[in-house]
Amino acid sequence: MIPFPIVLSAPSGGGKTTVTRRLLQQRADIGYSVSCTTRNPREGEVDGRDYHFLTEAEFRRRRARRQFAESAEVHGRMYGTLRSEVRKVLGSGRHVIMDIDVQGARQFHAAFPESVLIFLLPPSGEVLLRRLVGRDTEGREMQLVRLRAALQEIEEVRRYHYVVVNDDLEATIRRVSSIVDAEEVRHERVPRVSRTVRTLVAQLKQEVQRHAKPTR
Ligand code: ADP
Ligand code: 5GP
Repeated sequence: MIPFPIVLSAPSGGGKTTVTRRLLQQRADIGYSVSCTTRNPREGEVDGRDYHFLTEAEFRRRRARRQFAESAEVHGRMYGTLRSEVRKVLGSGRHVIMDIDVQGARQFHAAFPESVLIFLLPPSGEVLLRRLVGRDTEGREMQLVRLRAALQEIEEVRRYHYVVVNDDLEATIRRVSSIVDAEEVRHERVPRVSRTVRTLVAQLKQEVQRHAKPTR
């Protein structure tokens, strides 16, 4: 199996974190790329596990050193994916999943063309608002910023390979997991497919000859 990057995008409150966590629990063949951000940690978030929380100066320094495969300003804060995180997980033989915004996804796909881009759509505007408010991690002002951003983010859905409407959570997780399974057996990802086919053809020819011999 040749591991590949999986990019999950959705408007804020769309379910990226929830779906990513569940997939990581369910599948040992997927690892997570911990992003860098200049935003403050939320309650319960751990540096190095949820994000690498950086100062603006540190973020700029890393960007100048070209350590990011992509980076973008999202909701007024900087976010970026470290090349080293992606390589570490792929190098361990696992797919690497990352939850990044639409600008980052475009840049990342240019840097890693083998990546699979999945967009989670909310079932309705009302549900998205309810989930975002219900999560209770942002003040009203920031919730509004995120909802306004959602209007533009959703337009970018056409750039993605797959679109999953995140209505029932279990169904969404199953769908995303099935996408990963299907992508593993895409022709161009199957290792040594030409050699496998050549061997099979040779074996089949022998079988045909054997079968064609008259039996007494
Ligand atoms: P994101 O990471 O995209 O901002 P989250 O994963 O934090 O979104 O989800 C936002 C909120 O919606 C969370 O409280 C989460 O538990 C809830 N949620 C996500 N998906 C579903 C779903 N399919 N059904 C019900 N609640 C959901
Ligand atoms: P949050 O602050 O809610 O964790 O994330 C806000 C937004 O930043 C989400 O759309 C999330 O996908 C995006 N994001 C998280 N990590 C990265 C990253 O490494 N790069 C980019 N471009 N966006 C990211």
